Amino acid sequence: MEKHIVKVLATRMVTHNVKQFDIQKPEGYKFIPGQATDVSINKPGLEEDLHPFTFTSLNDWENLQFTIKIYTDHDGMTNKLRDVNTGDELIIHDVWGAINYKGTGLFIAGGAGVTPFIAILRQEFKDGKIRGSQLLFANKSVSDIILRNEFEVMLGDSFINIADKSDDPKVMEGHIDKALLAKYVSSDMKYYYVCGPDQFTEAMVNDLKELGVAESNIIIEQ
Ligand SMILES: Cc1cc2nc3c(=O)[nH]c(=O)nc-3n(C[C@H](O)[C@H](O)[C@H](O)COP(=O)(O)OP(=O)(O)OC[C@H]3O[C@@H](n4cnc5c(N)ncnc54)[C@H](O)[C@@H]3O)c2cc1C
Repeated sequence: MEKHIVKVLATRMVTHNVKQFDIQKPEGYKFIPGQATDVSINKPGLEEDLHPFTFTSLNDWENLQFTIKIYTDHDGMTNKLRDVNTGDELIIHDVWGAINYKGTGLFIAGGAGVTPFIAILRQEFKDGKIRGSQLLFANKSVSDIILRNEFEVMLGDSFINIADKSDDPKVMEGHIDKALLAKYVSSDMKYYYVCGPDQFTEAMVNDLKELGVAESNIIIEQ
């Protein structure tokens, strides 16, 4: 198994509980947008506690980037990442699976499940190929929307937000259900990408199938 000790170069909070890490890129380290690696913190006793995170940088960036939701409700790995800052080290491993990009489509994300779509949509935007893609993004609250400004710039009206509670006219209130999905399922849209908590993914996949989307055109985390 590949193993690289890499320095944290910068960190920033992008929402109240999502922290972004810019880290050193090992020589020749490459990934496909949507892929992930196992990460641990290079501090005594934490080196073997591996957790998967998706790259949100692109291959032609000088550094790697992760965008990580911090759970403060228990002392897991992400809570420890609160204290990982510039100059500290992470350990990263082989690049693997996650979301297998096939082409423009409807991206359906629940919360931090949006991370593989950050890299994929950044790549589409950079390549001038984002036209035709849409992002349907579900969150608990408006303040949970990750990288809202950037998605608005990249996607315009094709960035659709929904939250359990919303007082923002641009964010619908409620959940993604079959009726809402039906508005975005069309014969022009070939691929449907889903990423989020297991229950969310399961519900979205069932609804898409019931709306007539072929299973082979529904892409979930591998
Ligand atoms: C392929 C892949 C890619 C991923 N990429 C990303 C990414 O880019 N960014 C990102 O933010 N996440 C990503 N994740 C999810 C990420 O790996 C997990 O959020 C992370 O491993 C959680 O680690 P943890 O130790 O903090 O929490 P864990 O202990 O693993 O717990 C996670 C969940 O369980 C709850 N929980 C567990 N134990 C307790 C307890 N005792 N009390 C209360 N609640 C508890 C937590 O609230 C949380 O909801 C990815 C997951 C996969 C599979």
